[in-house]
Amino acid sequence: MDYKKLAKILYPDAKPVCYWEEKYPARNLPEGAEVTRFAPSPTGYLHIGHFFQCLCNSFTAKNTNGIFYLRVEDTDKKREIHNSIDVAIQTLHAFGIEYDEGVFEYGEQKGEYGPYLQSERIEIYKSFAKQLVAKGRAFPCFCKKAVDFEEIEERRAEELQSNETISEHDDVCRELSFQNICDKIENGEKFALKLLSKGKPEKTFTFHDIVKGERQVRENGKDIVLMKSDGLPVYAFAHAVDDHLMRTTLVIRGEEWYSSLPAHLELFDALGFERVKYAHNPVICKLDESGNKRKISKRKDIEADMRYFLKSGYPSPAMIEYLLNLANSNFENWRKENPTENINNFPFSAEKITSSNPMFDFAKLNDVSKNYISRLTADTVYTETLNWAERYNTEFFDELKANPNFSPKVLNIDRDGPKPRKDIAKWEDVINVWGFMYGNIFDENYKSLDDYEINDCNLQDAYDVVMKYCEIFDYSNDKETWFDKIKKLSSELGFAVDNKMYKQNPEQYKGNVALVCEYIRIAVTGKKNSPDLYSICTILGDAETKFRTLKFAGLIEKSGKIDLSKANCNLNKNKSRKFILNRVSNAIQELKNN
Ligand code: GLU
Repeated sequence: MDYKKLAKILYPDAKPVCYWEEKYPARNLPEGAEVTRFAPSPTGYLHIGHFFQCLCNSFTAKNTNGIFYLRVEDTDKKREIHNSIDVAIQTLHAFGIEYDEGVFEYGEQKGEYGPYLQSERIEIYKSFAKQLVAKGRAFPCFCKKAVDFEEIEERRAEELQSNETISEHDDVCRELSFQNICDKIENGEKFALKLLSKGKPEKTFTFHDIVKGERQVRENGKDIVLMKSDGLPVYAFAHAVDDHLMRTTLVIRGEEWYSSLPAHLELFDALGFERVKYAHNPVICKLDESGNKRKISKRKDIEADMRYFLKSGYPSPAMIEYLLNLANSNFENWRKENPTENINNFPFSAEKITSSNPMFDFAKLNDVSKNYISRLTADTVYTETLNWAERYNTEFFDELKANPNFSPKVLNIDRDGPKPRKDIAKWEDVINVWGFMYGNIFDENYKSLDDYEINDCNLQDAYDVVMKYCEIFDYSNDKETWFDKIKKLSSELGFAVDNKMYKQNPEQYKGNVALVCEYIRIAVTGKKNSPDLYSICTILGDAETKFRTLKFAGLIEKSGKIDLSKANCNLNKNKSRKFILNRVSNAIQELKNN
């Protein structure tokens, strides 16, 4: 067979491969620098598994002073979902992932090794296809199965196929004569281009995968499709050509590609390319309802789509930290030794990627994120929550924006001490933890007595306590004075001023000072547990604190659950309650006017 002549017939206009080799010269990088890439296909949104691979590639390039680029693998036009690359790029951007070259937002491309969209590289693939035919390493296949080839079906089949399966070179088109081929082409018959495999699947060779380590792998025996009958390349061929010409040194990709590795290696060799290094990443799994470990699935799991984490408001450094934790076994020790170090300084190493499938665990992610957020200043928490709310919760955004001085004070409660609170894992939580501080939200959530956490509360006592608190509270008091007043109030109402006293003679008291605080807390926050009560009341201010205590008392009164004649309360007796109520409503009005 005159292969050169055949190559010319099949690809008459293709440029010689040397043209491309010169156009994309070797990169001038320091010793050890890795060139890595993220290569999404526009077939959906950004899956957590892909994001995981992206991080591993990005951190490897960063830590070796290499290059990280983004290539769009869009040759499977039938599966392409409109807009999905924009979504993926925007999601990466939102997580702060940066790359040196490739496709950016709005389809912009940057870099010397482009185009970075495979659909714009058809001319390049044709050159290499022609070269393979000329070398006798590829042939046109006219069989229906090859002509109608759908890569997705092939991939599924490959995933099912274990490495043990041996497939033979059984292609009849391998044996076609030069004349037969010419006749078919003249007749306008469509063809797919296939690799002419020289592998012997009964033989194995040693392969070093960066993640899996040294493995025995069977030689490829399949004449895999390289170019479909529509002239577009399949993944195997396109990635080999692109990774070579873009001077990639390390491909960190999903485990699902491992079964096609022998074919890919044979292809690199047939093309005369230096092999890239491969790392096949483990698959992120989860425990399903019945306790079985399974892959995170696009169809079943909200956490499959990275946008879920943006919508909930997980800060990107926390998300990245958690995933690096899953990826690199040395992460935990590094974090212990460097508790406050920026995540970008973690010395990530592809060699240390765990080979077993890690489990995604929300509880652990929340822990990581709470720790991260606990180290931020109140101003940062405010700005980040504001940015998040602007996109995902406009009502809360309006509250935050309307209170630019008040909000950081709120967020600073229990934050600046040696043991900051760790109750916010994502910006969405700020509403649950701190929403009550905003008058509108509080009013909305606490309309009736049942909205308060009053189970096993002695309402008669609670009523007395909050009415008295309303009388004595002065937001300008320091913490000590404030607490002294509460102790005095406790003792006047028959509560023990400390726990020791109470424990010695519990029958003599209605409870201890902690219970008094609990009643006040319920009135002011709606809940039995809250951050520091003194800070809450002073930040809420005189008017709002008193308004809330009176509102609570009013709701108790209205409920008819207490005997008002037994109320131990000056405000009722000397009729100054009306005066306080007036004062509160005037103050609130004044606040509103300002
Ligand atoms: N486009 C391929 C995918 O989405 C990329 C695989 C690779 O990283 O080489 O699975």
